[in-house]
Amino acid sequence: MDDGIKQNYEGKLRISILGGGYVGLVTAVCLAELGHRVDLVDIDKERCELINAGEPPIYESGLRELLSIHACRSLHAYASYDVIKGSDMTFICVGTPQGADGSSDLSMVSSACTSLGDSLKDKEEYHAVVVKSTVPPGTTEQLVIPSVLEHSGKEISEIGFAVNPEFLREGMAIYDFMNPDRIVIGSLEERAGDLVESVYRKINAPIVRTALTSAEMIKYASNAFLATKISYANEIGNICKRLGIDVYDVMKGIGLDHRIGPAFLNAGAGFGGSCLPKDLSALIALAEDLGEDPVLLRSVMSINERQPLRMVDLLSRRVGDLRGKKIAILGLSFKDNTDDVRESRSIDVINELILRGALVAAYDPRGSTSMKRILPDISYHPTAAEALRNADACLVMTEWPEFGLLDDEFNLMRSRVIIEGRRVLSCKDREGICW
Ligand code: NAD
Repeated sequence: MDDGIKQNYEGKLRISILGGGYVGLVTAVCLAELGHRVDLVDIDKERCELINAGEPPIYESGLRELLSIHACRSLHAYASYDVIKGSDMTFICVGTPQGADGSSDLSMVSSACTSLGDSLKDKEEYHAVVVKSTVPPGTTEQLVIPSVLEHSGKEISEIGFAVNPEFLREGMAIYDFMNPDRIVIGSLEERAGDLVESVYRKINAPIVRTALTSAEMIKYASNAFLATKISYANEIGNICKRLGIDVYDVMKGIGLDHRIGPAFLNAGAGFGGSCLPKDLSALIALAEDLGEDPVLLRSVMSINERQPLRMVDLLSRRVGDLRGKKIAILGLSFKDNTDDVRESRSIDVINELILRGALVAAYDPRGSTSMKRILPDISYHPTAAEALRNADACLVMTEWPEFGLLDDEFNLMRSRVIIEGRRVLSCKDREGICW
């Protein structure tokens, strides 16, 4: 191993991170907390200014506290790639959204690699490039490595490559980063893998060392499995509802079997967020591309697409024609404890309500600002009580704990028709999507 890097090991590594979103920023503050010197690069200048001012551009529990400790001390944000060559290694954490055909859109990874390669041209010491973004198997070998080598003009012996997928849950991201179930490191050669392993030396978790493509696949296979558990619970829940069986009792009975486990069995309105839907979709697209027929994965997706619409059907059965009716929506973020509304099930529900002529009054503790960009024409309220006032019905879409305390507030409604898409309420007269 290069002496320069070995010396840094005893003290700290100098790590650069590309992309300061949910994954990049959380990685940055946590690596700073672990004692490393972190340079974060994001093409969004305003985001960099906020980070340097100690102001989190996203909501994530504990993020403000860590940022206030490390911003402009061991963590600096830049809108330029110039800083990269001074670091030992670079984590790529840019977005990989869903493309129009369902596959993963790798344009941000591609442009990050071009800039990264350019910025490494004059670096003389060894550098490691670590892909943390979720990318389809083969991306590091076929896109990242050729692009970084071409633009840097370097040989494969001068730059190491690794894949280190991220498994954090939004809302719990900092806790999850610091307390992972496992750390997966795929690498082309030992040296890059060892360097990534040394980054996490203060974290106590099993390390899984693999080939590059296996590490990429582990991330997709994990998310597809989690999505499968949810759609399974929802399908069983839909059957239970018809039979008058409480699906939560059933899932408790199932989840205690150690071969199954209790997590991700909460029946409800389906999964959303920036990961499960797009990663499942990308895996389906990849399988089809390879000539496979991913029957199970497609069913998981199809259950998830239909599930939120069951909320609207249930509502119609309770209140009849929705034209002109005021419907309160409690919860816009895709889950509690986050402001992220990407692929939130409430988007499908609200669009269907608008289509059927309803008037939507929405409230979310954190997600309204982001949702206004997607759905600007519904009314947003500062409290649940305000959204509920004079409503003909209410749909609960996110399991924010504060919703569990609501009861008298529902008396502000014109009629107490309360339908839950997440099991969170404590009032007796609520009806669940599948309970
Ligand atoms: P995000 O959209 O929140 O953040 C991406 C950031 O990258 C943005 O700030 C954007 O300005 C920046 N960016 C785009 N192009 C850039 C470039 N060329 N150079 C520098 N910065 C650039 O995305 P995210 O939710 O943090 O996800 C990042 C990756 O991590 C994705 O591949 C995602 O699938 C994966 N992932 C996300 C989560 C999650 O819960 N959000 C969990 C695990 C893995």
